[in-house]
Amino acid sequence: MDEQLQEGIEALRRAVSHMKRGVFFGGAGVSTESGIPDFRSQDGLYRQKYKYPPETILSRTFFDRHTEEFFDFYRNKMLCLSARPNAAHKKLAQWEEEGKLAAVVTQNIDGLHQRAGSRRVFELHGSVLRNFCMACGKSYPVSFVAEAEGIPRCSCGGIVKPDVVLYEEPLDGATLEGAVRAIRAADVLIVGGTSLNVYPAAGLIDYFEGDSLIVVNRGAPARAVPGCLLIDGKIGEVFSAL
Ligand code: NAD
Repeated sequence: MDEQLQEGIEALRRAVSHMKRGVFFGGAGVSTESGIPDFRSQDGLYRQKYKYPPETILSRTFFDRHTEEFFDFYRNKMLCLSARPNAAHKKLAQWEEEGKLAAVVTQNIDGLHQRAGSRRVFELHGSVLRNFCMACGKSYPVSFVAEAEGIPRCSCGGIVKPDVVLYEEPLDGATLEGAVRAIRAADVLIVGGTSLNVYPAAGLIDYFEGDSLIVVNRGAPARAVPGCLLIDGKIGEVFSAL
C-alpha cells in the first residue's frame, strides 16, 4: 500500500474514532466490489455499446415510449440479485450499530446497505426491491419483475414499475428532506464511490456544516469537493484496513 493511501486511512481512522453523528453519502462505486457495475468507471455501463445510451434508456420518456426495451435493459443490466454486501456496506452498518453513524444517503438502488444491516438509509433514487402497479398501486417483489417476460403486468393489467427514479423524474420529497437534515447535522461526512455527476443528489453534500469531510473514491469525483481529504482507493479495501 502506498504511503499516501496509508496516511489517508490513518486520517479516516482518526475522524471515525471521534465521530458521533456521521453521515455516509455514496454511489454506485460502493457496490462494484459486490460485482455490480457502476456507470462511469472503465468497465461501467456507460462505456459499453447499446442501441441507445444508458441515460436515454433510463429516462421516463424512454420508459413510456419503449417499455419493453426498457425492461429488457433493466433486467439484464440493472438487476443483480445475486450480489451480496461487501466490506464497505458492512462497516457502515457496524458504525450505525456503534452509535457513530446517523445515516447512509445513497444513490444506489440495490438495497445492499439494508441487507448489510444499516437501518437509517435514504435511498435518493429508490430501490429495485420495491415495485408497484402503475394502475392500481399493488406491490410486487423484485422476483416478479425479474421473472416476467417482456413487460411485467399486474393482475389488473397495469404495468408494474420499479420504484426507481428515472432521469426526468423528481426525487421523493421526504427522502430528500431527511437526507438534507442528516447531512446538515453531521459532524463527519464521508463521501464514497460516486462521480458526483448526477444532480440534485450530488448537490446535497453542500449542506454539510461539520469539519471533517472525507472522500473515498477511485479517482477524483467530477465536481470539486472544497476542503475534503481525498483517499484514492477502493472503498471496500480502505474500510477493511481501518
Ligand atoms: P458513477 O458510475 O457515475 O460513479 C462511480 C464512481 O465510483 C466513479 O468515480 C468510480 O471511479 C468510483 N468507484 C468505482 N468503484 C469503486 C470502488 N470500489 N471504490 C471507490 N470508488 C469506486 O456512479 P454514481 O456517482 O453513483 O452516479 C450514477 C448513478 O448510478 C446513480 O444515480 C445510481 O442510481 C446509479 N447506479 C446505481 C447502481 C447500484 O445501485 N449499485 C449501479 C449502477 C448505477
